Amino acid sequence: MNFHILTLFPDMVMNGLNTSIIGRAVNAGLLSIEAVNIRDYAFNKHQSVDDYPYGGGAGMLMQAEPVYLAYEAVTEKIRRREADGQTTSIPQEVPDGQAAVVSQTSPVEKKPRVVYLSPQGDVFSQKMAEELSREEDLILLCGHYEGIDERVLEEIVTDYVSIGDYVLTGGELPAMVMVDAISRLVPGVLHNDVSAEFESFQDNLLEYPQYSRPEEWHGKKVPPVLLSGHHANIEKWRREQSIIRTYERRPDLFEKCELTKKEEKWFQEWRDNSAI
Ligand code: SAM
Repeated sequence: MNFHILTLFPDMVMNGLNTSIIGRAVNAGLLSIEAVNIRDYAFNKHQSVDDYPYGGGAGMLMQAEPVYLAYEAVTEKIRRREADGQTTSIPQEVPDGQAAVVSQTSPVEKKPRVVYLSPQGDVFSQKMAEELSREEDLILLCGHYEGIDERVLEEIVTDYVSIGDYVLTGGELPAMVMVDAISRLVPGVLHNDVSAEFESFQDNLLEYPQYSRPEEWHGKKVPPVLLSGHHANIEKWRREQSIIRTYERRPDLFEKCELTKKEEKWFQEWRDNSAI
């Protein structure tokens, strides 16, 4: 998967993403991350990319043209990469009626998705991360100052995404959050793909509590079932802990999770007992 981050602060983004699991995945060729400096597409000698908003008001606004030119440079690069890599063999009619195979470069029509990081967007979620991890290319547009001229957003943006109901100074941290969450769902990025499978938010449940060595720490013992080696019992215990944890910590998610009849009965009993 290829991430293209349009930003005024490429170093901030690259320094944050070049470490640990994501950095290793980039080195292994499973991901590519490029930060495109919008300022390189400024069209005046001072390389300024912002101006006052029409109608007045506080702060500056990023201008449309540098953002558009940066976007065009990225899409052109993707187009060229795909054209180079996608040579298809197309059967063609020749005059004597026989089919000849002519090698032809296929035109790439599909435009990459462009996410504008904005406090006005849909709130980012694990479900969104899963969906976006299936894209081959993803362009993330980071705003700064008071945001970006609306006209270029109308022209290039396909998705508006917020990382929460608060306002940050720029879209760089949200872009890094998205790259991190999406990347770990790309096959091969986590060494053990199972660990991305059984995590918080799968089935609208939070993950169960986990323990490592030693067996006893500060007088607290690891739950005996986890030492039993009985896989079915361990699975059952984990599922029940997930249900309890979600009920206690995220009642909004709990509303949406689906329990089996057996689990519903068990949960009712657990709730009655814990209310005593
Ligand atoms: N004036 C804008 C508004 O009220 O919607 C806020 C602009 S904010 C100071 C500057 C940039 O930070 C935005 O263009 C956006 O890219 C980014 N940003 C701020 N908060 C964000 C959030 N919660 N999620 C995603 N991006 C955010």
